Amino acid sequence: MASRSLHPLVAQARAFANQVLRPRAGEFDAAYAVPADVISAMAEQGFLASMLPVEYGGAGLDALSYGQLTAEIGKGCNSARALLTVHTSLVGETLARLGSPDQKLTWLPRLARGESIACFALTEPETGSNASAIKTTYQPVTDGYLLQGRKKWITYGAIADLFLVFATCAGEMSAFLVERGNPGLSTHRITGLLASRGAHLAEIELDNVTVPADALVGRLGAGFSFVANAALFYGRYSIAWAGVAVAEAALEEMVSYARRREQFGKKLRMHQLVQALIADAVAGVHSGRALCEKVAALRDAGDDEAINEANIAKYVTSRLAVKISADAVQVLGANGISERYPVERLYRESKVLEIIEGSTQIQQMLIAEFGIRRYRAPATLRPAGTPPSKESI
Ligand SMILES: Cc1cc2nc3c(=O)[nH]c(=O)nc-3n(C[C@H](O)[C@H](O)[C@H](O)COP(=O)(O)OP(=O)(O)OC[C@H]3O[C@@H](n4cnc5c(N)ncnc54)[C@H](O)[C@@H]3O)c2cc1C
Repeated sequence: MASRSLHPLVAQARAFANQVLRPRAGEFDAAYAVPADVISAMAEQGFLASMLPVEYGGAGLDALSYGQLTAEIGKGCNSARALLTVHTSLVGETLARLGSPDQKLTWLPRLARGESIACFALTEPETGSNASAIKTTYQPVTDGYLLQGRKKWITYGAIADLFLVFATCAGEMSAFLVERGNPGLSTHRITGLLASRGAHLAEIELDNVTVPADALVGRLGAGFSFVANAALFYGRYSIAWAGVAVAEAALEEMVSYARRREQFGKKLRMHQLVQALIADAVAGVHSGRALCEKVAALRDAGDDEAINEANIAKYVTSRLAVKISADAVQVLGANGISERYPVERLYRESKVLEIIEGSTQIQQMLIAEFGIRRYRAPATLRPAGTPPSKESI
């Protein structure tokens, strides 16, 4: 699977990342912004259209190519990759699957061209992992809905034109498209961050925002079970590849430095304990990538197992990214903590991957549930006389 030739858009993403993103990622981090010209360039190159359907102006990439493209952009700049995650995966793919014909016609071509930037607004100041408990409300009104509440940590929210907002009414969650410029909607940039500094994070206020009836995405009341769950699957797939990206970038920096730097009369790469770090990083990157490729194959085959495997891949690669980027800092020694080298930023960026799109602990809960359903010794191997129990059913 991995030896298949790269889709031209993936090769283009690699060149763009190497020429534009990787040399400037530190600058974006310091400036708290992936700049508008870089976002426009990503749109012009067709990256924002990558996974969207061809009939709506998308590039119609298969899941594997889209994952690879996400990883190439992520190796260049994690905050630029975050745009793909929220704009193309969480909102674009979700609209392509669950949007009404009008919503698809109106929004997907604009998202594909990057004329409108989209963000995904589920989390709130008081509600994160337990997303079904959000407090933002909607009320049916004449010809539409009235939204009231606050969202927080919304990636690209500070510059987005379109907001996929989740709200509840009498315990039922629904999803709505809200446009910037709608009276009552305001965004407030979040700064002072460990990482994702370039990703235009924002807090969003919805103060009596009225949206028309056709702003509803999916069925009324199906906002959590269908819309959020579908979106989070696309998001986890994207973050799984983001973990590979950060881990691989850290591995490259680690190896390059170990080949140059000498201590005790020989290159660092000749010291066996450094080699152990490199070996673990290589094995980690290869196994993480293989997991992502497995999810891609399942997605491309339309197999629902992709959902469980995406949870596993996201869990594994985000942890790998943390471990490998920490080891890269170690190999660079004091230079590892200097902003003149990229590994300190990769180390910071890696930690975010363990929090977003279902934290490590939430993934562990989901994976354990799946494992408890899936893995049981065959009945014939149980000790003789073991009575069937509820648990064994
Ligand atoms: C950089 C960044 C970008 C983000 N972008 C977006 C975005 O675009 N849109 C959006 O809607 N949200 C976004 N988020 C929010 C993100 O989805 C939440 O941060 C995440 O869901 C975790 O919620 P929380 O931060 O409130 O942590 P909490 O839910 O308060 O959890 C705190 C800690 O407790 C653990 N925990 C929680 N529940 C359990 C449990 N049952 N068992 C064991 N441990 C548990 C968690 O794993 C975590 O370690 C972003 C966050 C960050 C940091």
